[in-house]
Amino acid sequence: MEPTTEKNEQPQRTESTGADRRLNCRLLHNTAIKVVPIDSTRVQARETNNGEIIDIGLGGIKFQTNIRLENGHKVHVNLDLEKFGVVEHLGGTVVWGESIIPFFNGFGQDKQPSTQLAHQYGVKFDQTNLHQMQTLVSFLDSNLSSRHSRKLGINRRRYDYYQSFISQAKEKKAYYEPRTPESAPCPVVKIDGREIIQLCSNNSLGMSVDPRVVKAARESLEIFGTGCGGSRLVSGNLSIQKKLEQKLASFMGYEEAIVLMTGYMGNLGVIEALTNTYDLNRLPGKENIVGIFTDHENHKSIIHGCQLAAVKNSAVIRTYDHLNMSHLEEQLRTTHTSRKIIITEGVFSMRGDLAPLPEVVSLAKKYKALVYLDDAHAIGHLGKRGRGSIEHWGIKSVDIVLGTFSKAFGAAGGFLVAKADLCEFLRLQTNTYIFSSALPPATVGGVLESLNLIENEPSIREIFWENARYFRQAVAKKGFDTLGSQTHITPIFIGPDEKAIRIADRLFDKGIFIPAIRWPAVAPGQSILRCMVMAQHTKAQLDFVAEELAKLGRQEGII
Ligand code: PMP
Repeated sequence: MEPTTEKNEQPQRTESTGADRRLNCRLLHNTAIKVVPIDSTRVQARETNNGEIIDIGLGGIKFQTNIRLENGHKVHVNLDLEKFGVVEHLGGTVVWGESIIPFFNGFGQDKQPSTQLAHQYGVKFDQTNLHQMQTLVSFLDSNLSSRHSRKLGINRRRYDYYQSFISQAKEKKAYYEPRTPESAPCPVVKIDGREIIQLCSNNSLGMSVDPRVVKAARESLEIFGTGCGGSRLVSGNLSIQKKLEQKLASFMGYEEAIVLMTGYMGNLGVIEALTNTYDLNRLPGKENIVGIFTDHENHKSIIHGCQLAAVKNSAVIRTYDHLNMSHLEEQLRTTHTSRKIIITEGVFSMRGDLAPLPEVVSLAKKYKALVYLDDAHAIGHLGKRGRGSIEHWGIKSVDIVLGTFSKAFGAAGGFLVAKADLCEFLRLQTNTYIFSSALPPATVGGVLESLNLIENEPSIREIFWENARYFRQAVAKKGFDTLGSQTHITPIFIGPDEKAIRIADRLFDKGIFIPAIRWPAVAPGQSILRCMVMAQHTKAQLDFVAEELAKLGRQEGII
């Protein structure tokens, strides 16, 4: 990104082709902005008439307005340039304070979600207060809505944004160059011709290489070929898809199951569908708006689904503090939408801790909410028969359970189970199900056999848990912080991104493959090494890894 100077602050025309689109930000009337380059990709600006710009970067423009609130604080506004498409449609994606997620949590006088205002500006009001909201809205009205207001032009040619993003990512250690295993995801993999112990695969039960699973996949491939030939609603509804759905439903103890392309696509499409406000007899009504209550640590695919639901269906998104049931209750109590859905993971994918499902279910009952459980990391692992969190907690059922075939099943693809009428609705309304081709036959065949093994060979799961507990205790004994993990996902908290990368690189030199997980999977500067054991690891391998981790942890001052 070129540094912007007073001279090139001319209003920029947005090309309708989008080919040479320049990122413009309608900012403040009569704004005098002095821009000081910090480096090649970031510029810093100061001095405006109507407030002070604190920072400009690819993330957006942060400025402090001259508006003072009753408590004496000045209003901080973050203009999110990443969502520039939305800026054009909505007149500005502006979030209150530091957050960069454009969730619409505005409330009007009658304590109803103020979707009109929210739509207009995409404003998040954290500490909702009508006076504050009006102050901010009038400020936005006068400063953001005019097409003729002065513009801050940041010259970016077609590829500049992408290139500067890459250099920023490299500089901020958020650049991933994944290793390339040359063999199947097993406890030992071949990388760059070397045999390396791998402790980061989701192929936890080793299903992807189990000869029975491979045989079933091969047979299915031979009968049905490589693809299903279309989406489920057209030509892709092959008999094996139905067979898998029936088996999944009966395994999970539900009326019906739907096989989805991936877990990610499942969350994206199903959350969108569940928040639809269509009424086929009349125009969408405000009374249909849905409130979503989502744990702060929920997976990206859930966040993405919520964002889509907010933008498309005006859903009100309420994020509650991780596992904090009183915060969830407060939000359920104070949010007045006609439908409510609580979304939580069963086992949290980065920390390995468990959602307190019985409490979630009882709050859902009290506030007449649906419970949507993403049990990607629990199904196949938790519970005596591998049915996941509901079985672990002894809960009869929740409204929707989403699962994935990419973990315990050793394949790829997603699914959900629910009551038959809800599934019927979702088949009609889930865009990622309707408009995407069905899962390939070989995968479906293989997954059918994995399911059979998960159900009928509990010894694989038992060995897996023995390994998981053994390793978690071994690293905890060495003094590492495992972030309260209660399961097979063992995060080792490192913190600074460079440190995590350095440790991961040194581990690799020693013949151990555990990559550093950093932003965007976790918050910047909160890097972890996320260790995933497999049933097939030997104790000797796990001891070796724990020992090498400890040596490096001591060198780096982690333990
Ligand atoms: N939900 C959770 C909690 C996950 O951890 C993941 C994948 N890591 C997904 C959904 C997406 O699953 P899939 O790999 O099937 O897209």
